[in-house]
Amino acid sequence: MPLTTKERLAIAPQKMPELAPEVRSKTMDEVAIGYSAKEAKTEALRCLNCKKPGCIEGCPVRINIPSFIEKIANEDFQGAIDKIKETSLLPAVCGRVCPQEKQCQKKCIVGISLKDVEKSVAIGRLERFVADWERENGSVKIPEVKPNTGKKVAVVGSGPASLVVAADVRREGHSVTIFEAFHKLGGVMRYGIPEFRLPNSIVDKEIETLKKMGVEFKTNFVVGRTRKLADLIQKDKFDAVFVGTGAGLPLFMGIPGEDLNGVFSANEFLTRANLMRAYENIISPNREVETPSTPLWEGKQVAVLGGGNVAMDAARIAVRLGAEKVRIIYRRTAAEMPARAEEVHHAQEEGVEFCYLQNPNKILGDEKGFVKSLLIDRYKLGDPDEKGRPRPVKLEGESFELPVDTVLVAIGNSSNPLISQGTPELKTNKRGNIEISNPETNQTFMDKVFAGGDIVLGAATVILAMGEGRRAAFGINKFLEKQ
Ligand SMILES: Cc1cc2nc3c(=O)[nH]c(=O)nc-3n(C[C@H](O)[C@H](O)[C@H](O)COP(=O)(O)OP(=O)(O)OC[C@H]3O[C@@H](n4cnc5c(N)ncnc54)[C@H](O)[C@@H]3O)c2cc1C
Repeated sequence: MPLTTKERLAIAPQKMPELAPEVRSKTMDEVAIGYSAKEAKTEALRCLNCKKPGCIEGCPVRINIPSFIEKIANEDFQGAIDKIKETSLLPAVCGRVCPQEKQCQKKCIVGISLKDVEKSVAIGRLERFVADWERENGSVKIPEVKPNTGKKVAVVGSGPASLVVAADVRREGHSVTIFEAFHKLGGVMRYGIPEFRLPNSIVDKEIETLKKMGVEFKTNFVVGRTRKLADLIQKDKFDAVFVGTGAGLPLFMGIPGEDLNGVFSANEFLTRANLMRAYENIISPNREVETPSTPLWEGKQVAVLGGGNVAMDAARIAVRLGAEKVRIIYRRTAAEMPARAEEVHHAQEEGVEFCYLQNPNKILGDEKGFVKSLLIDRYKLGDPDEKGRPRPVKLEGESFELPVDTVLVAIGNSSNPLISQGTPELKTNKRGNIEISNPETNQTFMDKVFAGGDIVLGAATVILAMGEGRRAAFGINKFLEKQ
């Protein structure tokens, strides 16, 4: 007998099993452990399978959510993951890092009826469960690749947008080469998001699948420097190029003292910790690991400026590296903070202090040029700005000095100008993002060149980058078909 709506609504939301804060704050191990099959089935039974599923509307890649959840409830885990993969390439990643509470789960009728988005069906956790189940059971299928067409496509960057393009274009039988500036693949999923949120093994697995499909990878290859974009077309005879170079250029506050020792962009700090694995010296000094050659500043009194996911990641890495005190300094309040609710909650549990309605106006240094304190102004919320967020209004005469030895600036990223500067045919907007001439195909204003992800959107999310990649792949496949 199927459960009634009343019975489904009465099932308690299944909590995500997690490592205890005092254990996890000393390791890089993944914080969320994942549902068991029993927990996943119970959570799936909470779905009402409604006639007009708002969750699908809330998903940027329109996964058929009620259908995959119903399969979990029926213990058809293979069917569930197959359903997700009809529209999404990286479910193990998205299940972990998508801002579900602002997307699919926000529109879930269960959360709406219970008047609490946290009580919505845990769609992300269920997505992660089946993706992990597939990997752990060794049943990951390699997508079928059509016979070779003789056409060549270059993909610049190896973030989520590029991985989707590579898969979708390769499936059509075109040869694909990914050019990546770093020595490791995966983009922000590798160098930005720490392993305690997204283990590298997950990203490795996705890349392994692409390799098995015949995608080629060239690392340490900076397009714009190692080779010009135009040369990929004119000299190397690529029939089309996709640019997915992300938004890796950190923004700074523009206040005095940002050149002092001990001030870092969160991007640099995270790259040193994650990509260069500098944390291994500190967190596991006795473990037999290759000694990382990149040192990392071990701050004790750390201030992180900003309130997004990057700020949360930087703060939580600082905790793991042994900081005595880590503070997030944010000029609005918790309600306006852009970071995922779960990351904020985890950071709080790990001892990070949140200082709202505060913003520094100056970083002070000692006689040797090292950071010693921040001069901070206090704010209140004012009228809404053009995006509808209340404007922070400075309270005169309320400044104070906060002693710190490390400042991590996490106020946003913009696009790296390297490719666009050397390629005048590529149109960019005033923020340096590449402009698209056809939003259905992500074709740029340059012949044979397509673009997508953060380099087009500005710093966004993994799922939006993937959506862009899918559109660009559609555009490239259509373009090559006509050649
Ligand atoms: C610390 C951090 C935490 C985040 N947390 C989340 C989260 O929890 N959830 C979420 O959805 N999103 C999160 N994001 C945002 C998300 O990761 C990005 O929106 C997404 O990765 C963008 O994908 P992309 O493919 O456009 O580019 P990226 O992932 O940025 O990849 C671009 C790649 O291009 C390479 N590249 C750049 N220039 C060149 C060149 N000239 N030649 C060759 N290669 C080049 C770069 O090295 C990089 O590997 C986070 C971002 C950061 C920085």
